[in-house]
Amino acid sequence: MAVPISQMWTVATYVLKQKVKGRKQYPLVLMLEPLFRCNLACAGCGKIQYPSHVLKAQLTPEECFRAVEECGAPTVAHDFSVCLEGGYEKAVEGIREALNRGFRVTTNTTLFDGADPKSVRSFFDEMMELGVEGMMLSPGYSYEKAPDQSHFLGRARTRRLFRSILSNRKADWRFNMSPLFLEFLMGKRDYACTPWGMPTFNIFGWQKPCYLLQDGYADTFAELLATTEWERYGTESGNPKCANCMVHSGYEASAVNDTFGSLRGLWQTARATLFSSYTDPSALDLLEEPVRPVHAFNPLVQINDHAAEETHV
Ligand code: SF4
Repeated sequence: MAVPISQMWTVATYVLKQKVKGRKQYPLVLMLEPLFRCNLACAGCGKIQYPSHVLKAQLTPEECFRAVEECGAPTVAHDFSVCLEGGYEKAVEGIREALNRGFRVTTNTTLFDGADPKSVRSFFDEMMELGVEGMMLSPGYSYEKAPDQSHFLGRARTRRLFRSILSNRKADWRFNMSPLFLEFLMGKRDYACTPWGMPTFNIFGWQKPCYLLQDGYADTFAELLATTEWERYGTESGNPKCANCMVHSGYEASAVNDTFGSLRGLWQTARATLFSSYTDPSALDLLEEPVRPVHAFNPLVQINDHAAEETHV
């Protein structure tokens, strides 16, 4: 478990400053989408279904820099997704090349229903052997626009999947994530959504209320904060669009806020960082269960003993 010290320090000092200022709503990560265009067509992606005139549009560098300044979040993330035969091998080649050239590389993995936990654990091994700095994880969110609506995880299945993957952790796995968010995914703690924690800026403006839903846009970050009806969102709100969501853009900021919200939160984060094996014999049994997605056909790529293969369950 290793978030680089410099990153930890930047986030910690930023959050503490917000707390001293008494700010209740502050962003942690800006989800910057300079364009929706993509040479891939991921079945679980809700962003590439726009008409071609939208796909051709893109933000200018100046617009991107202005959004970064306006928002003030200490971290900026760019969206990227994959669904292409041979895509995994290409990605591994790219990682190797980036590492050879001295770049810091972090992987970002979205898991859908039908993911094989053993395969995901093999993937972690492979990434660590390659030398990536850290890994990020999230369950997929059911975008209304995504062409494949059948592989999104419900909350109970999400917890079961992540418990099987993240229990009995290997000591050399490094995750560039809040350890409390990983516990949330494993079903060990509960959080309310913090949609303003990872705001999205794209060619339409500041997206309401979050990276996943599109209930309008604001021209400025301040307008986004002031005009979004935040109480209508989050699983606890009863909004059916949020019912099964456990994604990082809504809940990792909640976990970070928990870390810096009290001494108890700090202690729990330190404990989760230092004692991260999560020994759980019954979770080992889950790894031996046959993979049973809710839907019969599962075209997801699974990694097995360092070889990529397609599974048909
Ligand atoms: S629960 Fe939060 S992050 Fe998820 S869709 Fe709703 S508002 Fe967005």
